[in-house]
Amino acid sequence: MASVRLESVVKRFGRTIAVDRVSLEIGDGEFFVLLGPSGCGKTTTLRLIAGLEYPDEGRVYIGGEDVTYREPGERNVAMVFQNYALYPNMNVYDNIAFPLKVRRRKLGLSNSDIRERVLEVARMLRIEELLDRKPGQLSGGQQQRVALARALVRRPSVWLMDEPLSNLDALLRIAMRAELKRLQKELGITTIYVTHDQAEALSMADRIAVMDRGRVMQVGSPQEVFLEPRHVFVATFLGSPPMNIVRCRISYSQETAQISCPGFTRIVPQTVGEGEVYLGIRPEFIKIAPHSGEGALRAEVLVVEPLGVEKIITASLDGETQIKIKTALDVEVKPGDTIYLELDWSRVSVFDAESGRILETLTKELREP
Ligand code: ATP
Repeated sequence: MASVRLESVVKRFGRTIAVDRVSLEIGDGEFFVLLGPSGCGKTTTLRLIAGLEYPDEGRVYIGGEDVTYREPGERNVAMVFQNYALYPNMNVYDNIAFPLKVRRRKLGLSNSDIRERVLEVARMLRIEELLDRKPGQLSGGQQQRVALARALVRRPSVWLMDEPLSNLDALLRIAMRAELKRLQKELGITTIYVTHDQAEALSMADRIAVMDRGRVMQVGSPQEVFLEPRHVFVATFLGSPPMNIVRCRISYSQETAQISCPGFTRIVPQTVGEGEVYLGIRPEFIKIAPHSGEGALRAEVLVVEPLGVEKIITASLDGETQIKIKTALDVEVKPGDTIYLELDWSRVSVFDAESGRILETLTKELREP
């Protein structure tokens, strides 16, 4: 087991800055997820940790040792990548057993130890019936599970995984998430897992680093990145639907300052500065009020989408600004209805419109009026 640390790591490909001054500290035994949109630098970050790329600047440490320029084989990491390559001439059993067989002496493993480990991961990944087949006789999802098994059969210091479940159908993926998480916790192997799927990240991670254009925008527990986004990018990347973002303005008249948003205004302390801001509120934290009470916002229903156990309602605040609300299925509204909305003010976030960064003071003031 080992901790992993990246110190101001930069990786360029020609003019592209794939990884831009990334610093991360991943604890021993942690399940750490790199989450972000396509092209944000997740895979490159993982390859830098694996030793498949060397950084242009910065350092990489595994278990406290500087491994920045060490070969992959000298890092004691096991990897599963999106483009898994299985040995086409070996059957599934031998593919999975291969990493143990080549290190048999070093690991002190007997044939029956190897067999036991292979069968254990095969069972977990539900590929026991396929052990005699060749990779060419497997579906894409089965091949992916064999590749994952080949990484899991090893007990390295660090597991590195790049979208290892992406080719599986929805049900199998959910089952595999749980199995993988269970095995990781049981063995306590530090794991760095790349995905662009927020549901996967939120359900598996101890902590998540949300990345955008080569940078780490925020690191935190699933709950922290979801409820306390530090940047408008994180607020709108996470959630389904994502956080509502409404453009507002802070202005002063005589002695008071106020935040003016489409359809409502609120008095705020004078200390918050002036200018354009984004007010963010998640669809989960808006309620449809039974009537026009104090502080309720008037809105017009545009679209109603029933989604199994809940409904997503899109409403307009001022004829222009749209806001999404998540409600129970039994809330009866239809397009054209006038409704009244109550925001849970303890859950709003306010961001600087220019930098996208959280405005701590203003967020705090609005949360505790
Ligand atoms: P995805 O989810 O699509 O796999 P990602 O977040 O893993 O994306 P990376 O693969 O790390 O992103 O790529 C980051 C940036 O670096 C992209 O702009 C990509 O085009 C670029 N890039 C990655 N590898 C290379 C390479 N070998 N040569 C040139 N550019 C590269």
